[in-house]
Amino acid sequence: LEKVFSADCGFGFTPVGFIGSDDGETGKTKVGHGAGGSADIERIARRDENDADAIALRGGKQGMIVERAPTGWYTQKASWRPVGRMTLGRESLELEVEKLCATARWCYSRGWAAATSGNFSVRVSDGRSERILITPSGLDKGIVTAAHLLEIDGEGQVLKGNGKPSAETELHLVLYGARPEAGAVLHVHTVWNTLISGRHAGKECVEIEGYEIEKGLLGVTTHEHVERVPLLENTQDYGALAEKLTEALETYPDAHGVLLSRHGLYTWGQSVADARRHLEALEFLFEVEGRRACAGGY
Ligand SMILES: [Zn+2]
Repeated sequence: LEKVFSADCGFGFTPVGFIGSDDGETGKTKVGHGAGGSADIERIARRDENDADAIALRGGKQGMIVERAPTGWYTQKASWRPVGRMTLGRESLELEVEKLCATARWCYSRGWAAATSGNFSVRVSDGRSERILITPSGLDKGIVTAAHLLEIDGEGQVLKGNGKPSAETELHLVLYGARPEAGAVLHVHTVWNTLISGRHAGKECVEIEGYEIEKGLLGVTTHEHVERVPLLENTQDYGALAEKLTEALETYPDAHGVLLSRHGLYTWGQSVADARRHLEALEFLFEVEGRRACAGGY
């Protein structure tokens, strides 16, 4: 992910400051722009199904895709929505918070955040400082609303809200620090991630390959991709776990999630929608692999 200028490039749409991740392709030329925004994204995605930028951001509302030309100049590919660390207006922030709460309730309804487990957060910036809105400790995830969220700073200090941060808040902070593009972090305890992380306990990572749904992970364009999900031993020493998580994120820069053995999954994304897509894709993979193992590994 590269931060670029926020000028409107002379095309008159709302300035934004971020671009999608570079998928390493070369030779692309400017594709288009305009008020139609997402139509451009659809056009790019249709024309080149390997264009990770376009596919990942399909359906967005506002922003731009640019690519760096060999000369070092940026070429605009299309306009639509800001990605990466977001500077959100009040309306967008409220929408993102609503999506986070809806995602937490949806996870609860699927049995992915039972017995007050799991935690969910978004990172927001007003252009000068950053804050994180996160579910508090002990909250029933089936009833989460925006009013329940704690607002904390980068050190984990509560700025607004009632309740106390969960011990796992520190892991959210580690993730936001190590993944500057992350705008949302989701953590769930599911049956399948508990089983698969237990089955592979002791290994450094869980490797999964050969499934079409891997393409739901940002930057993945083929089922031949080997997704390596770092696996950490569970502990109640969250300071030590934070250190292990920092190491794992450095060792696996392309990871889309991290497993804690017999505990759960952490995943993230540039927006709540991206993080939720990663969550669904990874949990789908864990369940497929788990069911496959149960059936004798066919
Ligand atoms: Zn947990």
